[in-house]
Order: sequence, then C-alpha cells, then structure tokens
Amino acid sequence: MVNERTPEPSGSRTRSVVCSRCGATADSLPLTWTCSVENGTRLYFCENCARDHIRSIESRLDSAWW
Ligand SMILES: [Zn+2]
Repeated sequence: MVNERTPEPSGSRTRSVVCSRCGATADSLPLTWTCSVENGTRLYFCENCARDHIRSIESRLDSAWW
C-alpha cells in the first residue's frame, strides 16, 4: 500500500534543502550552507560546494550585475 499523497507544508519554516551542485540533502538549511538566488530561483549549496561555488557566484555577480 502506497501513500501517494504527501502533505506539503506550504507554510512550514523548515523544508528539506538539496544542494544544487552535488545533490546532498539536509532536513533544514545548515548554517554552513550557502543560499544563492540566480535568475529568481533560490539555490542551495552545501559546505563543500559553497567553497568552490562562492567564487563563481561572486564573479558572476560582478559580471551580471552591471
Ligand atoms: Zn554540494
């Protein structure tokens, strides 16, 4: 028996987050994770990926901002 209907807590404060780079998941957004908004989409990066991605985030902001 499969429960197909999973209740979605739309107003929930904590939702599971998925790293947009390596696919790592966390129940709630850890402090070490980085949240980046690109093209109106909120992306999350885990600690490891954030280190690598932060440079491209910053450089991309520099080039895309102006
Ligand atoms: Zn990651």
